[in-house]
Amino acid sequence: MRELLCEYGRRAVELGLVLGTSGNLSVRRDDLVAVTPAGLALDRLTPERCPVVDVGGHLVEGDLQPSSETPMHLAVYRTTPARAVVHTHSTFATVVASTMRELPAIHYNVLQLGGPVRVAPYATYGTAELAANVQAALEGRTAALMANHGAVAIGESMEEAFERARLLEWLCEVYVRASGVGTPALLTEAQLAAVAERSRTPPTFPRRS
Ligand code: 13P
Ligand code: ZN
Repeated sequence: MRELLCEYGRRAVELGLVLGTSGNLSVRRDDLVAVTPAGLALDRLTPERCPVVDVGGHLVEGDLQPSSETPMHLAVYRTTPARAVVHTHSTFATVVASTMRELPAIHYNVLQLGGPVRVAPYATYGTAELAANVQAALEGRTAALMANHGAVAIGESMEEAFERARLLEWLCEVYVRASGVGTPALLTEAQLAAVAERSRTPPTFPRRS
């Protein structure tokens, strides 16, 4: 679990999803959660530097303090089936989170996150209030934006949560760039429902005999 944090921490920095010591990652197995340490750059992790806590918030292993956003990660684990949480300060997600109440349906890939992505109201980093705001914004979604702060994505694996964080950043970049060209056209509920239906029943091609 802790090696996964090191691997994806490096990837998050390489891909520019986080800068310096911003952002944090966690992964859950059973009652235990491995989380990145507070105040350490995500490309400088080693497995021993990553603390392990239980879902109740007790430190189980590690010399360093768990990420300040551990209450947010644990709130997700207590209320969803997620097995990994990725929190970033990626640029375009933060732009949208600082200007809007939700990321609208600019592209049908927003369905991979459960639909238009809500912006959780601002609260001081690391607080129970922020954790509660993010938990509410995640209702029926696999990602949320955090007002004037960043983004969070969840998944059944670190790979899934990480890819959702990348997708959210891409969707936000498309929205922001489209807004610079004109007023973005948005997909309607009916258009989104048609996409959901299409992905449930993909056509099969008849085999040539
Ligand atoms: P940590 O270094 O404590 O993980 O904090 C970074 C962060 O993104 C706070 O929101
Ligand atoms: Zn943060």
